Amino acid sequence: MLFKFFRLTAAVCAAAILVAVSEPAHAWNDVGHMTVAGIAYKRLDTATKAHCDALIKLNPYYENWLSSVPTSANTEEKNMIVFMLAATWPDVIKGDKSFSIDGANGGYKPEGAVSARNIGYEDHLLHKYWHFIDYPFSTDGSALPVVPSPNAETEISEFTKVLNSGKSDAIKSYDLTWLVHIVGDIHQPLHCVTRVSKGHPDGDNGGNMVKIRTVDGDSNLHAYWDNMLGMDNSPYRVMRLVKKLSPPMNKNSRRRVEVSSNQQLEKIHAWIQESAQYARQDVYVSPIGQGNGPFFVDRRYKKKSVALARKQVVKAGVRLADLLNNSLY
Ligand SMILES: [Zn+2]
Repeated sequence: MLFKFFRLTAAVCAAAILVAVSEPAHAWNDVGHMTVAGIAYKRLDTATKAHCDALIKLNPYYENWLSSVPTSANTEEKNMIVFMLAATWPDVIKGDKSFSIDGANGGYKPEGAVSARNIGYEDHLLHKYWHFIDYPFSTDGSALPVVPSPNAETEISEFTKVLNSGKSDAIKSYDLTWLVHIVGDIHQPLHCVTRVSKGHPDGDNGGNMVKIRTVDGDSNLHAYWDNMLGMDNSPYRVMRLVKKLSPPMNKNSRRRVEVSSNQQLEKIHAWIQESAQYARQDVYVSPIGQGNGPFFVDRRYKKKSVALARKQVVKAGVRLADLLNNSLY
């Protein structure tokens, strides 16, 4: 499938938000993932960067990504753009007919041993439940369901371990592509919680059931947050955004810090808990009320949300770079 870039006009943008309402959303959009990957790529040390470039070449979509790179790009830009595009792969395969939905609840709930397998590109299951971890919370005293597993947290841990192991490059390529994507996902606060209530004893699917109204049209809370960084995914626009958001580098930015695998797991868990905390404190707040809405999202909410989304994307990029600098060298 040829992956093409397109510039969205405001009208098409609104239409895209409307389309997003029909299918539960479970991912930052391409802009979010590409920005996280771009911020990370600029912080990779030389050996790690070369290792990532080599592994990404093994992805079956590599030639497609290469054909999407503007001809004016130099080698460093080309490699960075390909890395940014690779971050979208776990979403792109949702439109690839050779992949199929597995699991229960439309593929959003893991089921059976295949849900945790890690066999590389011969696996044509979508594993949609790897994109998030729904820690439940309730504001009306409802009983909380258990958190399904595998989920984003178990898979980030698994893929990080594999990158640091003697497994084959084929498996490492698959795991790297997923890892770059999911580290981005867990920094979207609605990828880390689900709001449980008497009306939704199993949760609201990370805000997918909460309807909202915006000046651009109707949407749901989850999709609204997924699109917080904008819709224009042309590479140079995203690279400008990466440049604007990237924190300054210092001599310690690329320094490898020895961490045990237990410390690594604790760190990943803390990132998810922080994101879940943002969801409870800053996402499910006025004008978002109890129930399904629709709630009209005002400019004040939007302004604060954009600031939080950008902050989270920057953290995701910096943390992803640390993870890779400590795993692939
Ligand atoms: Zn995702």
